[in-house]
This record gives sequence, C-alpha cells and structure tokens, in this order.
Amino acid sequence: MKYYSTNKQAPMASLQEAVVKGLAADRGLFMPMTIKPLPQDFYDTIDSLSFQEIAYRVADAFFGEDVPADTLKQIVYDTLSFDVPLVKVADNIYSLELFHGPTLAFKDVGGRFMARLLGYFIKKEGQKDVNVLVATSGDTGSAVANGFLGVEGIHVYVLYPKGKVSEIQEKQFTTLGQNITALEVDGTFDDCQALVKAAFMDKELNEHLSLTSANSINVARFLPQAFYYFYAYAQLKRAGKADNAVICVPSGNFGNITAGLFGKKMGLPVKRFIAANNRNDIFYQYLQTGKYNPRPSIATIANAMDVGDPSNFARVLDLYGGSHAEISAEISGTTYTDEQIRETVKETWKEHHYLLDPHGACGYRALQEGLKPGETGVFLETAHPAKFLETVEGIIGEAVEIPAKLQEFMKGEKKSLPMTKEFADFKKYLLTI
Ligand SMILES: *Cc1c(COP(=O)(O)O)cnc(C)c1O
Repeated sequence: MKYYSTNKQAPMASLQEAVVKGLAADRGLFMPMTIKPLPQDFYDTIDSLSFQEIAYRVADAFFGEDVPADTLKQIVYDTLSFDVPLVKVADNIYSLELFHGPTLAFKDVGGRFMARLLGYFIKKEGQKDVNVLVATSGDTGSAVANGFLGVEGIHVYVLYPKGKVSEIQEKQFTTLGQNITALEVDGTFDDCQALVKAAFMDKELNEHLSLTSANSINVARFLPQAFYYFYAYAQLKRAGKADNAVICVPSGNFGNITAGLFGKKMGLPVKRFIAANNRNDIFYQYLQTGKYNPRPSIATIANAMDVGDPSNFARVLDLYGGSHAEISAEISGTTYTDEQIRETVKETWKEHHYLLDPHGACGYRALQEGLKPGETGVFLETAHPAKFLETVEGIIGEAVEIPAKLQEFMKGEKKSLPMTKEFADFKKYLLTI
C-alpha cells in the first residue's frame, strides 16, 4: 500500500517510509491510498469473533500488503493481550472501557502496535536504528514508553515538563530503564513539544540520526485504534443493540476518532459520530462556523484533550474532500467546561454507580444530551479514573481504589536527565547519543 501526504506536495511513501518518517516531507500527514471495505459476511458473523480475530481482519486490510501474514498476526495478538469490554452504564448508553492495558489508557494499543511494526522494519535489512522523540503532558509518554520497552533497534526519549505531571504519570516512564530515557525539561509542555519539533526540522541532527515521532500523526499509532470500533460493534450486536449505533469519542488531537471514521469507510455500520471536546473546542467551533481557527490550548481537568490545533484535523478534512457539509453530516460536536465535567462525574457515580474519568465524562454527557429515540450510544472511556486520582476523589468525596498495575509503577525508582528548554542544549545532547 502506498501512502500520500494530506498536503499533496510530497512523493508517495511505502508503509515503512511512512512509519519511520512519521510526517511527510511537505509537513503533511500520511494517508493510505485506499481504504478497503470488509466483506458483508465479516459483519454478519462479527459477533462470533474474538477481539484479536476482528483486529487481525482490520489490520490485514491496511497492512496486509506490506507485512507477512504470520508476522502481522503476531503483532496484533501480542498488542491485544487484554480485553476492551462494553459495559452498560444507563439505558441505551454503554461505556467501551479502553483502559485495561499496561498504562490504563487507550493509547496503549497504538503505542504497542507501532513499536512492534517499527521493530519488524528495523530487523529487516537496511533500516538503521531509530530514535523516537515524544513530548508528553502525561499519558502519551507512558503508553509509548511501555509499548517500546525492550524493542531492539529503537530508543525512546520522553520529554516532559518538570513538576507538571502527576507522580503516577511520571513513574510510568521514568522507572523503566533499558531503551527508555526520560528528559525532565525545565519548562512547559509547549516547550517540550517545541524541542521535539525543532529536532525534526534540524538538518544536522537528521543527517546523524534517524528520528521519528510516536504521536498520533504516525499511521502505525493511529490506525490500530480502528480495532476498538469494530469490537464495540461486535459487542453491541451480541447484546442485540447494534441498530442505529452512535459512537462518541472524547477528542483532543483527533487520532482516535479519525480511526473510527476509517472504520466507517470500511463499511462498519455506525450511524454517526460525536466528538466530545472540553473547553478546547476548536473542532466544535469548526462544525458551527465552517472555519478552523486554531488557538493556544487552555488547561482543563481533562488534560489529555487540551489541544489547541488538533493534528489529525487534516486527516478528517482529507477523508471528506474538505467538505464541511459532509463532515457535519457524519460528526456532531459538544463542548464542556470543567464545572460540567465535575457535575457529570458526580451524578453518574451517584445515579448509576459508574465512575467516569474526566475525559470519559465528556463522552457520556454528550450521549445523555444528544441521543435520539431509537439510537444506542457507546462512548469510549479513554482512561481509568484512578489515573486522575486527586481530581476524581475530590469530585466524589470518596477514596478511589488504585489498580495493582499502577501500584507496581509507584514502587519503581525515578530516573531522569535534567534538560533546559533551549534547543541548543537538547541538540548537543542528541549529538552525543
Ligand atoms: C489522548 C487522550 C484523549 C484524546 O485522544 P485523541 O486521539 O488525541 O483525540 C482522550 N482521553 C485520554 C485519556 C487520552 O489520553
């Protein structure tokens, strides 16, 4: 399969090039040339298949031309070593719990899949070692670091803002060792991101090192998230609720929802999508006005969605030929304040005894307010509420149990390298690795 750039000014790339480079030469995002529909009999029998079996069929449609079948199957099965259950929360509203992986957030699947696919390409002749740079405000760093841990030929550098991530988050990427290095930057998340961007643009660095990004601009990170949507549908079908399915996605950089839109293009019977935003509602405003106005992000309690210029918006536009009318026909939007998010976490706990995290709360509320008669809603619960312990405990006024996986991380010893926010220092460091 060939990949083109959303900016259409770069040559076509192979899957290997798209994964190793991350971004196209014209700074556009890679898109697969074709999105293959899956046959009707797959959808007819999907409720009898396992998560892994479903995911392999989906992965084969995207990556089957470029990766041998047994290797691809192994990558998929190894990535999906945990379940993603559909849990009923209220009448006609279900939570797809994406937080049962190693770092308890949905990015685990993309992180692991990308690590294994890149590992496969590196083992093949001719691909030199790759350095993955990732800037994080908390969740991405842990999912990527844990996904890449121990993969030969790849070294991961996690840049995070000193004093601005929670202790639980910090422990998940500073205690691993091996091929994972944590760089504690004396600055903000935006400073971390600026350092990573400057490194990708620096000619001298790129002559010395093979650098790539592991955020959702990378096709190997975001496409595997399509697995979730097919499995959600399979479980709805098992429950006899698959007609008029509406899927609601708490969205920041829009990688997750874009993977769902790809699923629909492959024939997945989803009636419509809702993108739930916090106060960083650039996409919501786009739907209302037809104008895309990026702006600096503002801090909220659903901080993984604090994005002021969603990188995958370019892919959404490309999928619908830039048509605002077509995009609005398929996706609606919502926007919630911290106050509304708190209210939703509290009420859902009180009325349904279901504990939402602040991101999932946006998704649940959008369905509560926006479902039409005859529709069944699924929201993606993107992280375990214990990852936002202080916020959630503060809202419900009760202690939240910390899962064993998180407790394990807390026992590790933090190791990180201090780094200033000056690019000259970061560059000097990278030239020594
Ligand atoms: C990353 C993240 C999101 C947003 O996902 P995008 O693909 O960036 O839209 C939502 N919730 C949580 C918990 C996340 O970590």
